Amino acid sequence: MLFDILTIFPEFFHSPLEVSILRRGLEKGAFEVRLWDIRDFATDKHKTTDDRPFGGGEGMVMKIEPIYRCLEHIQPLGPSPFRILLSPRGEILDQELCQALSKKDRIVLICGRYEGVDERVAQHLVDLELSIGDYVLSGGEVAALVVMDAVVRLLPGVLGCSQSPVKESFSTGLLEHPQYTRPREFMGWGVPEVLLSGDHRKIALWRRKKALEITMRRRPDLLEKAPLTDEDLEILKGLRDGTNNP
Ligand code: SAM
Repeated sequence: MLFDILTIFPEFFHSPLEVSILRRGLEKGAFEVRLWDIRDFATDKHKTTDDRPFGGGEGMVMKIEPIYRCLEHIQPLGPSPFRILLSPRGEILDQELCQALSKKDRIVLICGRYEGVDERVAQHLVDLELSIGDYVLSGGEVAALVVMDAVVRLLPGVLGCSQSPVKESFSTGLLEHPQYTRPREFMGWGVPEVLLSGDHRKIALWRRKKALEITMRRRPDLLEKAPLTDEDLEILKGLRDGTNNP
């Protein structure tokens, strides 16, 4: 997979790409990142990438021409790209969308700054406007990193344990069950006995119950879409009427 990132701050990406999963994915060749400085595609001598908004108002707006020129330049440098504009007004990123994005050969991420980007970029130059949540960031770079991290870890061979993305929160339709590790006791706080029992069937059942319970309490909206078995529905009924406490 190839990511082309359009930004006025390419250096923003240097250290995140040098650590942990992103670094490992790059080293394994699971994906590649190319950073494009939008300023290099400005035509005036001051390399201007923003201007005052038509109609007046606060702040500056990113201009369309340098972004257009950059997209024209990179278009032939790889397979046909899926072009994303990071924007708080976009579709909200979730695990399902990450899965879909992980199937693309090439993704372009356009990072806005200031008051945002000339609307004609969203109208004519991209396939998707994407938000990472209902809050406003100072720039699209953090959002681009979030998208890249969430997508790249789904690519085959990037994570150490190839099973982990399959069982994680959201991938199963539920939030994940709680996890514990050594020591067995810390400051008098123990670990659920069942996890120390070695009984894999009981452990799997406890985990499923916990995942259902946590999802029911924290994100009941997810239960509406989650693939639930008859046994899950029984567990949920028990959790609701207090007769089934994992
Ligand atoms: N004036 C804009 C508004 O009220 O919608 C906010 C612009 S924001 C300060 C600057 C840039 O940060 C945006 O163009 C976008 O690229 C990025 N950004 C901010 N919040 C974001 C979010 N929740 N998801 C994705 N990108 C975001």
